[in-house]
Amino acid sequence: MKRNSLIPLPLDIFLKNIYGNILLNKSGKTADYIPELSRVNPNQFGIALASSDGYIHEIGDSLQEFTIQSISKAFAYSLALELVGEKEVNKIIGVEPSGEAFNSIRFQNDNRPFNPMINAGAIACTALICSIEKSKAFKKIQKIMSDFAGRNLSLDEKVFKSENATGDRNRAIAWLLKNNKIIKTNVEQSLVTYFKQCSLLVSARDLATMGATLACNGINPVTKKRVISVENALKTMSIMVSSGMYDYSGEWVYRVGFPAKSGVGGGIIAALPSQFGLGTFSPPLDRQGNSVRGIEVCKRISSYYNLHILEIEGNIKDSIVASYNLQNIRSSTERKEKNIKILEKFGAKAHVYELAGSINFMSVDYIVRRLQELDEKEFIILSMRKVSQLSSGADKLLDAFIQTLNSLSTKIIFSDIEFNSQTWNKIFGSLGNMEDNKTRLFENNNEAIRWVEDFLIQKYSTDEKVNINENLKEQFLFKALSNSDLDFLKERMIEKKFKKNVKIISKGDEADGIYFLQSGKVDIAINLQKSLTTLNAGTCFGEFALIEPKSKRSANVITLTECTCFYLPLKILDSIQQSRKKIIETLLKNLALLLIKRLKDCNSIINNILDR
Ligand code: GLU
Repeated sequence: MKRNSLIPLPLDIFLKNIYGNILLNKSGKTADYIPELSRVNPNQFGIALASSDGYIHEIGDSLQEFTIQSISKAFAYSLALELVGEKEVNKIIGVEPSGEAFNSIRFQNDNRPFNPMINAGAIACTALICSIEKSKAFKKIQKIMSDFAGRNLSLDEKVFKSENATGDRNRAIAWLLKNNKIIKTNVEQSLVTYFKQCSLLVSARDLATMGATLACNGINPVTKKRVISVENALKTMSIMVSSGMYDYSGEWVYRVGFPAKSGVGGGIIAALPSQFGLGTFSPPLDRQGNSVRGIEVCKRISSYYNLHILEIEGNIKDSIVASYNLQNIRSSTERKEKNIKILEKFGAKAHVYELAGSINFMSVDYIVRRLQELDEKEFIILSMRKVSQLSSGADKLLDAFIQTLNSLSTKIIFSDIEFNSQTWNKIFGSLGNMEDNKTRLFENNNEAIRWVEDFLIQKYSTDEKVNINENLKEQFLFKALSNSDLDFLKERMIEKKFKKNVKIISKGDEADGIYFLQSGKVDIAINLQKSLTTLNAGTCFGEFALIEPKSKRSANVITLTECTCFYLPLKILDSIQQSRKKIIETLLKNLALLLIKRLKDCNSIINNILDR
């Protein structure tokens, strides 16, 4: 994507500042219990942050590869969950923080390892994968981790061999697990697979993308590929919150407060749900085995931007951005005065709430409470145009609300629904078949309001023949015209009949006359997709020609039903004798009044929307 590099990104500036500052911290010691790890250059330092839309901010040695080590445990765990489900995994590995070092040999009272983030739990987890995938186990782990990273991760043979040759403590743990019947497969194969998974090469950038994949509920935001299920992403992050940072985990939640996992190779991965993934690399470790600089990066980002997962911003009241009824705000449909009067009288029977932002469980509760405060309504319209997300808790509460409405006489309408978008399919899919008697969906709010208006007019009109050949006298433009003048015009107008879906006027045509709609409905549209207004019988179109003769028509007019019109050619008006000049004066005055009325309607809409 093309970017304007002259506009600096504040997050890049922040990362650059903390990078320079933290680089000065030379404390800590590289891991040496795996001989090959002690050979890395301790000065390397890289930070990468992948946003949930797949943009990477990075600085320093963010592309430098190193072995993933313990960070792999989170991903092997997610693979085990995908393969056999949480229940099976839980039979052999717990979910409790151990409060002990990563290589602790202590187990829970039931002989299970405390959790999958310490070596015992991780080896049990890899052994479980081996028991299912047999000789393909390592390839499977490598594949899922590559999918998380969005590129093929390779193996550091030297580190693998080094650990395989010296990992006696892990061997001891594995044999104890076998003794405890936690490992039921070949111990050596499980260990080799585990050492290999720890020796996969990643960069800080890879870790950032892997973290962002967890943060995006299992979808890699760069490749857009789903790697694991939503539930398994959530479970993996939960364990990272409680046990990801060895025996520093409690402090970690307290001070930093987002899911993370570190590895003795010097990497740290973190994920802030729905926002970003973070990867850091700096080999010197503190006493607990966590990268000194990596911890500092996470602490600074979290505290400066207040990113603790428990620090939730937003107010449920912001979920309603506009609230009005149809007494004072209406669709862009032109209606004759009689019908406008009906809407002015009965419009309050329909109420519109425009909703916005990320709607959660409590926002729905708030919206429903606001609805409760209204007098009894025939219609409630909820516009979803500005809604970015509906949480599943919100979804359930909304569903229950719709069910309760079924026993009342209120009809609920959702408008501004993008029918094909993933979000709405998910929501309305789970809300069941919405298009029943009580609920209706509209792609746009104007259409929803128009539909309700038509309903109210039908219901409350005392006029029996709605929409059948209107009386010309009731046309707004002919108001105050004498009977003889009206007859004079009538004789000169041409009656035209149109079928459904016919274009009466095309944008760009020369404006040569005015149409008076006597029966049926037409749409005024700039293009075929977007209707500006619907006109009902008793109104006119093409009236601007009166002010600007010979100008170009500014929109298309298309029939929505069969229609009858009286067409008044402008040349008739041109040829009017002096004695009839009053006709033109009246028409122009009426047109001015009509335009003022439209302007007032627009002002009222703006005013009411602002006043929520
Ligand atoms: N391969 C390492 C081990 O099992 C990983 C340890 C770690 O990164 O915490 O000892």
